[in-house]
Amino acid sequence: MAKWKDIKGLRVGRLTVIRFAYKKLFPKCNREHEMWECVCECGKKVVVDKGCLTTGTTTSCGCYHREKTIRQMTTHGHSNSKLHNVWLAMRNRCKRKKDSRYKYYGGKGISVCEEWQDFSVFYAWAIAKGWREGLTIDRIDNMKGYNPENCRIADIITQANNKTNNTRFLFQGIMMTAREISEITHINSRLISARMRHGWLIENAARIPPGLIHTQEDSTAVKCAPATRWFNTPASSAADRSPSIPTQPQLAI
Ligand SMILES: [Zn+2]
Repeated sequence: MAKWKDIKGLRVGRLTVIRFAYKKLFPKCNREHEMWECVCECGKKVVVDKGCLTTGTTTSCGCYHREKTIRQMTTHGHSNSKLHNVWLAMRNRCKRKKDSRYKYYGGKGISVCEEWQDFSVFYAWAIAKGWREGLTIDRIDNMKGYNPENCRIADIITQANNKTNNTRFLFQGIMMTAREISEITHINSRLISARMRHGWLIENAARIPPGLIHTQEDSTAVKCAPATRWFNTPASSAADRSPSIPTQPQLAI
């Protein structure tokens, strides 16, 4: 029992030693170690092996390493911080009533699943799915929330189409985006947007189920642009665009 030394008041990193706690036998070395109670700067009390204090091996209650891990995940590396912003924005529009988009997400019952409340879990999923800068997280079914089953990594084109941009259409007397209309009629918002680009009437674009041949009654239809590459229709033919054949059925889109 030689060299017992009072280390009360000693500061090591974030820890301040407050009192001797007890002795603990360590079977590996078959020796008793002095255990001292410390208070951390974060307020937590911990009992630490004296040897770890005097050698500087232990410098906090564990909070330092937790903070360091979070910092590395959120700020180290550009992509990590970008993905963290994606995660924050996703949570905000589902949770924060003050978020400008809350009414289309949280307000409609769209939520982020329990496991993704932890950024590290969301991060691991996104990286495993091939997320990189320029890509985003996209819900497959817009009526369902954010979870691993209903989300995918979308490229710019898919993202832009699923977001249905900010174009608004007069529907039921209100200017609405395709996504907002989709929430009412349950017709895919991308389909609504595509149909509108083809000159469909909004009532038809918003309500006719996909795949049905629709004879366009709006004469502007024949002047509209050819099919864009991102939805699954055959390449548009000249007939689709020719004003000389106004009775030509519209492509089923
Ligand atoms: Zn601490």
